[in-house]
Amino acid sequence: MKSHRQGKQCLPFRISYDDKKGRIVLASRNIKAGDVILIDKPLVQGPGAKTSATCLNCLAGWSSGYTCSSCKWPVCNQQCEEGRWHQLECSYLSSLSLLPDFTKEFIPEYSAILPLRVCISAKSSDTRKSLDLLMDHAGIVANDEKLQQGLELIEKLEELPYSGVRGAGIIATNAVSMPHRNGKWLFPTFSFLSHSCISNARFFPCPGEKILVRAQVDIPDGEEVTISYVEPGMGNVIRKEHIEKKWYFRCECTLCQDPNELGTFLSGMRCRFCKSGTMLQSSSVQDFWNCVNCQEKVDGSTMFVLSKTLFSKAKEMESKEEIENLLENLERILHPNNFILLHLKEKWVSLPCCTREDLEKGLGYMSDIMKLRKILEPGLTLSLAENLKTLNQMMLELGKLRLAAGEIQKADFMKIVLGAANNMKIAKKCYETIPDELANKE
Ligand SMILES: [Zn+2]
Ligand SMILES: [Zn+2]
Ligand SMILES: [Zn+2]
Ligand SMILES: [Zn+2]
Repeated sequence: MKSHRQGKQCLPFRISYDDKKGRIVLASRNIKAGDVILIDKPLVQGPGAKTSATCLNCLAGWSSGYTCSSCKWPVCNQQCEEGRWHQLECSYLSSLSLLPDFTKEFIPEYSAILPLRVCISAKSSDTRKSLDLLMDHAGIVANDEKLQQGLELIEKLEELPYSGVRGAGIIATNAVSMPHRNGKWLFPTFSFLSHSCISNARFFPCPGEKILVRAQVDIPDGEEVTISYVEPGMGNVIRKEHIEKKWYFRCECTLCQDPNELGTFLSGMRCRFCKSGTMLQSSSVQDFWNCVNCQEKVDGSTMFVLSKTLFSKAKEMESKEEIENLLENLERILHPNNFILLHLKEKWVSLPCCTREDLEKGLGYMSDIMKLRKILEPGLTLSLAENLKTLNQMMLELGKLRLAAGEIQKADFMKIVLGAANNMKIAKKCYETIPDELANKE
């Protein structure tokens, strides 16, 4: 039960075991929002399963036409050819007679690289110890069509400690995509963090190919530390299926289990029978929704398709005018907090405001957005920082106009300025700062 040591630091977590989830990470003391919880180095990295030609070492897009002198796969230059990641598989790829067509938009053979790196890395006994602890969903992965060509390629190679399916399963279950980095990354301790759609911690890249996990809210001693794999702000109606398809598990977090979505009604639709109630996914049965007012039922798949179609439509909107028109139409059929309306309002406020009317409308939208985001993404998040910035811009802009029109006094305007300065202090805490001891190491 001792805390995990990393360098000189004593980091505030310990590893525990849960029957359903496997290994999990628990806070080993009270952790404050913003504190560093964990720093981890990658076991392997590599290109994702669906990719065009990328450099096998640094994962950058491939435009140089340079190929490795041994295996003939794409790399940027000689330095990448000799890089530590590509050197893992170079001799294995050289032994294969086949060479994919690297000019194609999508090269299925790339899906073999990362699982292959896992299988090869397992030859080192230290790495094998870490890899053996990781779960795979081998049964599902073995039948996943998009991985077949990659798996076939690995099966052609001999004397690997793991099967291709085990390698691909470890990646599918544990590897992460990271902001500002290409490809997928597998970290030994970080992999034990479970997903929750309302997570209490978040992760970001830091120098030396490391990953850093920070608390987003205060986490009491003994509580599980969680991160979110998905973009927050999607309704249960779409998010749950998305998680199951992409990560092969059914999320059972507080948000996913609650038909009210923590009081937000994020997937809620207006009932078309009684016109006044809200249609929600039934808590007991997955495949139907019912109205909280008149109890009328609707088939679950109808609601899923409807939500998905409207969400796609919302994503196509470009101008403020288009967004406003769609908002007006959708407000008649969706609950006012529905995530599709949230998405539209967020898009609207990201566009420049030119008139006083715009600013007033924008501040109304900001209030709706921030109320929901506070529940869906509690604590020190990047979206809080961005929202505070937008809010400040609008408040100051409108304040200036009102001051010029003589509607408010200078003292009132100063109050707005002070409020904005205060918001910036909070926003600063939300940004992804690298601790000093890591900042200069590459
Ligand atoms: Zn490269
Ligand atoms: Zn090579
Ligand atoms: Zn969930
Ligand atoms: Zn009804």
